[in-house]
Amino acid sequence: MSQRGMRGNRYLSEEEKKNKPKVTKKLLMRIASYLKPYAFQMTLVLVLIALSSSFSLLPSIITGKIIDEGLIKQDLGVLIQLILLSLAVTVGAQLINVLQSYLNSWIAQHITFDMRNQMFRHLQSMSHRFFTTNNQGDIITRMTSDISGVQSIITNTLVSILSNSITLIVAMIAMFQKNALLAIIGIIIVPIFTIPTKMVGKTRWEITNEAQKCHDEINGILNETLSVSGQLLVKLFSKEEQEAARYEEVNRRMVQLNIKESMAGRWFRLVLSTVSTIGPMLIYLVGGILMMKYDANLTVGDITVLVSLLARMYQPVNSLLNFSVDWIRSLSLFQRIFDYFDMEVEIKNPEHPVMIEEIKGSVEFNEVNFHYSPERQILKNISFELTPGKSIAIVGPSGSGKSTIINLIPRIYDVISGEVLFDGVDVRKLDLSFLRSQIGLVSQETYLFNGTIRENLLYANENASEEMIVEACKKANIHDFISRQPEGYDTIVGNRGLKLSGGEKQRLSIARVLLKNPTIIIFDEATSSLDSISEDLIQSAIDPLIESKTSIIIAHRLSTVLACDEILVLKDGEIVERGQHDDLVKLNGTYTELYETQFKRALEKLNPCECE
Ligand code: ATP
Repeated sequence: MSQRGMRGNRYLSEEEKKNKPKVTKKLLMRIASYLKPYAFQMTLVLVLIALSSSFSLLPSIITGKIIDEGLIKQDLGVLIQLILLSLAVTVGAQLINVLQSYLNSWIAQHITFDMRNQMFRHLQSMSHRFFTTNNQGDIITRMTSDISGVQSIITNTLVSILSNSITLIVAMIAMFQKNALLAIIGIIIVPIFTIPTKMVGKTRWEITNEAQKCHDEINGILNETLSVSGQLLVKLFSKEEQEAARYEEVNRRMVQLNIKESMAGRWFRLVLSTVSTIGPMLIYLVGGILMMKYDANLTVGDITVLVSLLARMYQPVNSLLNFSVDWIRSLSLFQRIFDYFDMEVEIKNPEHPVMIEEIKGSVEFNEVNFHYSPERQILKNISFELTPGKSIAIVGPSGSGKSTIINLIPRIYDVISGEVLFDGVDVRKLDLSFLRSQIGLVSQETYLFNGTIRENLLYANENASEEMIVEACKKANIHDFISRQPEGYDTIVGNRGLKLSGGEKQRLSIARVLLKNPTIIIFDEATSSLDSISEDLIQSAIDPLIESKTSIIIAHRLSTVLACDEILVLKDGEIVERGQHDDLVKLNGTYTELYETQFKRALEKLNPCECE
C-alpha cells in the first residue's frame, strides 16, 4: 500500500489481515538486532518520555491546589508560587520533549541509514534474473517507502505507544488518589466515547481507501499518457479525445470521493462532541454529591483535577485502541524488508577465488547446458574455444540463444551443467569483479545515465585522462559528432540517452568499453537497421577492435562475420555449423540460409552493385 494509504488509516485492509506476519521469537529478535546498537539512546528516550508524560500532567494536578490553596483560601503568595510552578513544569515538559524528539529522530535516522545501506548493497548483489523477474516498482518501494515506514514506526508508533501508556497510567493513579469512585466513573466513560469514534473512523477509512485506488488510477493514466513513448502513441493513433474523456471520468469520481471523505462522520462527531461533555458533567454531579453529602475531604480543586485528567485520557485511550493495527503493520513492514534480505544471492563470489598469474584472455565453453526455467532448454552442449587475440562471430536466427551464450561469460547467469573457462579457470572460481573487469560488453540495449557524455564515459574508468577519452571516442568514431555539439563532451545525453540516436549510443558505448580496456570484448551487434552512414561509422569502429582484441561478436552483418576468425552457427540452442565463411556458405545449411536471407540482402541494400 502506498504511503498515503498507510498514513491515512488506522484499520487493517483485507490484504493486510491476510498477510499478517507470524509473531515469532526469531522475527522479534531480528528487529531487536537493529535496535540493539542504539540501546543506550533508546533507554534514555524511554526515561525522557516517562518524565515528559508525567510532567505534562502536573499542571492539571497543580490546578487543584491553585483552587483549594490559593483561590478558596485567598492566599496570594501561594497562588503566585503555584502559578509559577505550573509554568515551570510546562516549560520543563516541553524542553524534555524537544530533547526526546531530537534523540528519537537521531535513532530512527541511524537505524534506517543502516537498513538502507544494507538493502542497497544486497540489491546490488542480486542477480540479473532477480531484476528481470521482479517488478521494478516493487524493488524501489522496498528501498524507499518501506524503509521510511520503519523510521515512522520508531519516531511515531513507538513513542506514541510509550507516552500514551505512561500518560494513562499516571492519570489513573492521580485520579485514584483523589477519589476511587470518581476515577472508576472516568475509566468507564472514556472507552464509551472512544470506541464509537473508532467505528466512524472505519467508514471514513473505507472511503479513503477507495479514493486511494482512484488516485492510483489517475497516476496510471498520467504515467501512460504523459510519458515520452505514451504521448507519441496517443498522437499517432489520434486518441487525445478518448484519453481526455477517460481522465475526466476518473477525475470526477475522485472529486465525489473527496467530498464524501471530508463529510464522512461529521454529523456523528458533532453529536459525539456534544455528548462527550456529559463525562465531565457526570464527574461534577457525582463529585458534588460526594463532596456535599458523604466526603468532607473531597475539595473543589480535587473535582476540577479529576475533570481535567479525564479530558487528558481520551486521546491516549483512542491511540492505544489502535495498538494492534500499529503493531501488525509495523511487523509486516519489517517482515517485508526481511523477506528481501533473505533472498539468496544467486551469483556468488567464491570464498577463495583462484588467481590467474598471467592474463591471456582465452575463453572456453565445455559442454555447456543452460535454461532459464527447467521446462525449456535454451543452450545444448555448447563447446567452443576462443584463443587470445582471435575473434569469433556467433550467428543464428533470432531466439537461438546467442545473447544467452555471451551472458554466461561475465556470469550474468551461471551454467546449469558444463563449464565456462577463462584462461583455463572455471569462471565460477574467479573473483567476480576481476572476471568482469576483464570483459567489455557492448550490448544492443545501450544504457546511458542521464548525465553528460563525459560522465557516461568516465563510468568505465574514472581515472581516464581527457586524452584517453578523446582517443577512445576517435576510435569509436564518435568524437566528431561530440565536437559538433555546442557543449561538446559536457552535452547532457538525456534520460537513458534518449537525446542520442541508436547509432550514436552504440558508438558511445563502444568508446566506453574502449576506456575500460578489457582483455576480451563482447559485442552484440544491433539488429535494428541503421542507415548506411551509421553502419559504416560503427563498422569502422569495430573492425580494428576485432583485429586487435580477443572478441566475440554476435553478428548480423556480413562484413562483421567476414572480419572474424571463426563463425559459430547457432540454431535452437545448438551449434549446428562452425568454420569460415567460404566453407560454410557451401554447406547449404543454416548458414547458407542466413547468408541468403539476412547478410546478402543487407549487403545489397548498402552496396547494390557489389552483389549483383
Ligand atoms: P536475438 O537475436 O533476437 O537477440 P538471441 O539468439 O540472442 O536472439 P537469446 O536472447 O539468447 O536469443 O534468447 C534465447 C531464448 O531464451 C529466447 O527464446 C528467449 O525468449 C529466452 N530468454 C531470453 N532471456 C530470457 C530470460 N531472462 N528469461 C527467460 N527466457 C529468456
